[in-house]
Amino acid sequence: MAQLTFLGSCREVGRSGFYLEEKKESVLVDYGVKFTTPPSFPDMIPTDDLQGVILTHAHLDHSGGIPKILRESDASLFCTPATRDLSQLLLRDMIKISRGNVPYDSKDIALVRRQCQAVAYEETIPLGTPFELTLFNAGHIPGSAMVSIRVNGKRILFTGDFNATESQLNPGARKNLPKHDVVVTESTYAQRINPPREKTEEGLVDTVLETLERGGSALIPAFGVGRSQEIMCILEQSNIPRKYPIYVDGMARAVNDILVRHPQYLQSPKSLQRAVSRSITIHDSRDRTQAVKKGGIIISPAGMLKGGASHLYFKMMHDNPKHSIIFVSYQIPGTPGAELLATGKVVVNDREFKVTADIRQHHLSSHSDSRGMLDMLLKIPGEPKFYTVHGESESCEALVERLEKKGRNAQVAELNETVEV
Ligand SMILES: [Zn+2]
Repeated sequence: MAQLTFLGSCREVGRSGFYLEEKKESVLVDYGVKFTTPPSFPDMIPTDDLQGVILTHAHLDHSGGIPKILRESDASLFCTPATRDLSQLLLRDMIKISRGNVPYDSKDIALVRRQCQAVAYEETIPLGTPFELTLFNAGHIPGSAMVSIRVNGKRILFTGDFNATESQLNPGARKNLPKHDVVVTESTYAQRINPPREKTEEGLVDTVLETLERGGSALIPAFGVGRSQEIMCILEQSNIPRKYPIYVDGMARAVNDILVRHPQYLQSPKSLQRAVSRSITIHDSRDRTQAVKKGGIIISPAGMLKGGASHLYFKMMHDNPKHSIIFVSYQIPGTPGAELLATGKVVVNDREFKVTADIRQHHLSSHSDSRGMLDMLLKIPGEPKFYTVHGESESCEALVERLEKKGRNAQVAELNETVEV
């Protein structure tokens, strides 16, 4: 029997990591970071007999510790080409934002490219003697994958983060998955129902148009990987009059370049192409001041007004009721974005800002909600045993409860617990 150890993302979101061993050989799925101070990682694993490291997607809570593993092992890294390129970008940014407070340096990030064996969706490849690997589209961000590993005639699925609903950027997760015996599933939004996506998109476009028509500018704070491109595609599809410029700031610029090189992971490569060629790139603080002065739509990280350039725009725009600040993702309690939505004012760098700009939220989720999640999991053939991870404790438990109600065998995975599969 093979042994599966849950190294992280147990009753929490962050530091994902799963270690699978069979007869002295092993594979690792994800090795992410949790943004504590200092950043925390899953426990280190023995790397001598590691046959491969598999990465579900580029987000740092899944990829943030990968260079630490690669510097100690010559095992190959298996992921899609889009994940390989996006994760290098995010890892370089992580070294910058954590001021080097991570267990590797920029030289090690080069290993992500050097040791990577790019894998396409649906392609099956052997790993060492006992393992066989297949990636399926997860629909979460471009290049994201669900990881299926066959060992001893059994099949284990690691869902990573997934979204069964398609968006303007991502095709939805692979429907009709093959038979599995064990499923390790995320549970981020196991307690939430998302409104229909078209409604949220319409609401976003309406808010943007209202703002522009009254002579204001719309600031959309958005994460640079995935969310910014989705917003660009939504605006492109909605025929916003050409007289209103669309500015793109921060990491989104480099991400655009990467995604244009990997069109196979996009819902509509043409739509992103058109959106990219229409947008105006912001390079420095002079461009920022000019953009606010001229007016238009500004897409800038960070999505919760914490870091990135979005807080610079916020300072220039907060006291004019013509402008609007539109949040498009969940705002973690304690971030400036959450504070602003709850109270209409915010403290940034010890200064309190009273805000007269229009504050709105149109949440575009990149995870399935509780209904979509359950629906997809119940359709996996083979009556698999479920382990829930990647959610707050209550979410992990809620998903177990819902699966059990449907007569399925499910349990919450506990930190560093090893189970036989
Ligand atoms: Zn993710």
